[in-house]
Amino acid sequence: MTSMPHLPPPVLTLTNAERERLAILIEEMGEAAQAAGKILRHGYDSQMDNRADLERELGDVYNSIKMLCHYDDVDEAKICARQEEKARTGKQWHHFQGDTK
Ligand SMILES: [Mg+2]
Repeated sequence: MTSMPHLPPPVLTLTNAERERLAILIEEMGEAAQAAGKILRHGYDSQMDNRADLERELGDVYNSIKMLCHYDDVDEAKICARQEEKARTGKQWHHFQGDTK
C-alpha cells in the first residue's frame, strides 16, 4: 500500500481580530439562513414577522461584510465587481425570475 505524501501543515496567521470577524460573518450568515428557512416553511407574513427577521439578519450579514472590508480582510471593490458580474451572468440559471413577483 502506498502512502500519501505528507503535506506541511498550513501556517495559520490569523489575528484574534481577523478570526473574530470571520466568526461574526459565519454566525450572521447562519442566522440569515435560519430566517430564510422560516419563510420557506411559514411564509413572509405568518404569525411572526418573518420578513422583518430576514431583513434584520441580512442587515447583520451586510454589516459583517462591511467590517471585513473596513479592516482590509477583503477588497470591497472586488466584491462589488463580482456582484455586478453575477447580476449579469447569473440570470441564465434562474428559472422563475421574470418581471412579475
Ligand atoms: Mg444576527
